[in-house]
Amino acid sequence: MWGMIATWRMALEGITHASETLKNGGRSAKAVVSAVAEVEDFPFYKSVGYGGLPSENGEVELDAAFMDGDSLAFGAVGNLVDIANPIQVAHALSRERFNSFLVGTGAREWALSQGFAEKAMLTERAIQHYRKRCHETIDRGLSPYDGHDTVGIIGLDNHGSMSVGTSTSGLFMKRRGRLGDSPVVGSGFYCDSEIGAATATGVGEDLMKGCTSYEIVRRMEGGMAPQDAADSVVCELEDKLMARFGRVGDLSVVCMNRQGEFGAATNIQTFSFVVATRDLPATVYLAERRADRTYYTPADDQWMADYAARIRAPIGDPQYD
Ligand code: ASP
Repeated sequence: MWGMIATWRMALEGITHASETLKNGGRSAKAVVSAVAEVEDFPFYKSVGYGGLPSENGEVELDAAFMDGDSLAFGAVGNLVDIANPIQVAHALSRERFNSFLVGTGAREWALSQGFAEKAMLTERAIQHYRKRCHETIDRGLSPYDGHDTVGIIGLDNHGSMSVGTSTSGLFMKRRGRLGDSPVVGSGFYCDSEIGAATATGVGEDLMKGCTSYEIVRRMEGGMAPQDAADSVVCELEDKLMARFGRVGDLSVVCMNRQGEFGAATNIQTFSFVVATRDLPATVYLAERRADRTYYTPADDQWMADYAARIRAPIGDPQYD
């Protein structure tokens, strides 16, 4: 059995291409890294890699991680500036015995020393978006932190190996140096080939409070089906934070077990995710929660067309979001 599952529609092209690797007997690490890198390279995805939205000082600080479910080795980078593919740096770091989680200048210096490509990651479109948000925030009191998403991709290969990768520019207008859950093992991602893997997207400050991805994998280990593990973790975290913290941000997760069964859960209106397995061509699903359970259906052609138009719409256009 092979399979891939990812957060958000933006993973579709990457998954479509990378699933060929798995179909042909290739390794999950290769499939995951190439799928995440494809999302990083695409300029119209505004929360990952090139074209990602900047922090409050106008700099694109990128976070990424990779975990190998066979060895449990992981590598991660935080606040990485102007390196083309943070996921590749994270993957390389996962092979280091020590110093496998690097942030800021140290991460950048290490990436350059290893020959990773430098690239100016702030695009003209992201600058326009930044200026617009500066105005809106002053004029209308909008939250500066809306506008974020992480691509998190899980792969299972025919050899029974699993891996997971994440990549994000984090919260739009975040404070310089801020880290979310995405590069933090156990929160933004976790992977154990003997059990399964999970990855999260949403407000990192809240996802970290529940060590969300580890908790999902732990429940799968205890025998829960992936869907039950995902739903129970998201619902319980939401209830707990509402009761004890008084508020909760967006929480969405996807997971897959070693048999290739998958689950997705969310507390937002519409959470899109992508799945491809031996038995299922790459498909975008739209998930929504009713009561304590997440339900999902394949996205229809109209939704896909609206999405394609929305991400390319001129900034300021009513379609643009
Ligand atoms: N979890 C990411 C962060 O907090 C953002 C997101 O996935 O929406 O940096």
